[in-house]
Amino acid sequence: MKGSNSILIKNGTVATLGEKNQILEDFDLLIENGEIKKIAKKISVGEPGCGVKVISARNKLVLPGFINAHTHYYSSFACGFNKAASSANFLEVLENLWWRLDKELLLEDCYYSALVANIDAIKKGTTTLIDHHASPNAITGSLKKISEAVLFAGVRASLCYEVSDRDGKKIKDTGIEENLNFIKALQARPNPMLSAIFGLHASFTLSDETLSMVAKKNEADKVGFHIHCAEDMADQKNCVDKHKKRVVERLASHGILGSKTILAHGVFLEEEELDLIAKSQSAVVHNPQSNMNNAVGVANILKMRERGILVGLGTDAMTTNMLEELRSAIWVQRLQQKNPSSAFSECCDLLVKNNRKIAQRYWPALSSNSFELKKGAPADVIIVDYNPATLLNADNFYGHLVFGAAQATVDTTIVSGKILMQDKKLSGLDEEQIKEEARRVSSLLWERV
Ligand SMILES: [Zn+2]
Repeated sequence: MKGSNSILIKNGTVATLGEKNQILEDFDLLIENGEIKKIAKKISVGEPGCGVKVISARNKLVLPGFINAHTHYYSSFACGFNKAASSANFLEVLENLWWRLDKELLLEDCYYSALVANIDAIKKGTTTLIDHHASPNAITGSLKKISEAVLFAGVRASLCYEVSDRDGKKIKDTGIEENLNFIKALQARPNPMLSAIFGLHASFTLSDETLSMVAKKNEADKVGFHIHCAEDMADQKNCVDKHKKRVVERLASHGILGSKTILAHGVFLEEEELDLIAKSQSAVVHNPQSNMNNAVGVANILKMRERGILVGLGTDAMTTNMLEELRSAIWVQRLQQKNPSSAFSECCDLLVKNNRKIAQRYWPALSSNSFELKKGAPADVIIVDYNPATLLNADNFYGHLVFGAAQATVDTTIVSGKILMQDKKLSGLDEEQIKEEARRVSSLLWERV
């Protein structure tokens, strides 16, 4: 029965990261046909040569792969781009950099920027990504192109196209169509590696007419929306000036909120807006490094948590390393509150518990215990080269995650039972060749911008 689809991870320190995190010392983990078959001590797979791939995790930490709940693949091609004028505020950052860059993206750029981001994700142990894409002059087919890069890399991703009125009616309509086509294609041919959400840019670039229209069009599919929300005060100011409402009130009035909707950022939210989010069960995704980089502010995730809002952690493409983002989340909360004891377990929960709950909303076909290490869960497993110098147990696991494992290297990344990286070497992806092609493509992009 066991064969080439089986992997046995031996003698690791397994952190299950489920609802109740267990630390299992010197345990084995057996993977069969993409699923976790067994987690136990001294699992035997019979004679050598029986086809089971054995990986030693001795002195290493075995974890479920990390989830990035908000990112932009196309941002990979902004690394080192220095033709953007310096910006005095968030809107200028969009105008001087992102809206210049995204307008010049071709389908080839969409593919390669996604592929290189996925390679980086694999190296950092991030195995599931929720992406938000824009390429206003290469919309049709862009999600399919990105999905090819996702499937080729072997990670899981949820994709959407960010609809906006900022480039006129034709581009807005094409964006709506791209979301609907991708949603329908996935519904017709479900793929456990992929998921679809309906993407929207942000309140300040969307008309009332567009918001009502997309709510209606998405009614049947009910896949939820993925939208930037109150990332900067400018979003709120525009909304109050133009629509006499706060951003979340406006989104709620158009039917955009719901248990499958992701509101990215939520830096400037008032009490009434938090109530609406809590009531609708929408998720908020916190992106602290991006908020610091754009100098917009710090989201009050503790207040959101008190309201029972599901808050996850994203990177907004600042990194693919979720532990780096987690550390930033903690530091900035503490600095803002001038309290060196605050926000530690709350921030860890965003990544460890809440991102799992968010991802489960978008992969309903996977088992209910997916994104944790448990029998029957899809085998998204990473092995981190972390041999702690101090005692590690379930009570102090977060301390080790933030101050220890975050500084360690990911050794092995497995998604859906497929080894994507082992001994820090990618399997099945020629990184050198892909990066060379990405540099060629991105150089041409930079020339066009
Ligand atoms: Zn974003």
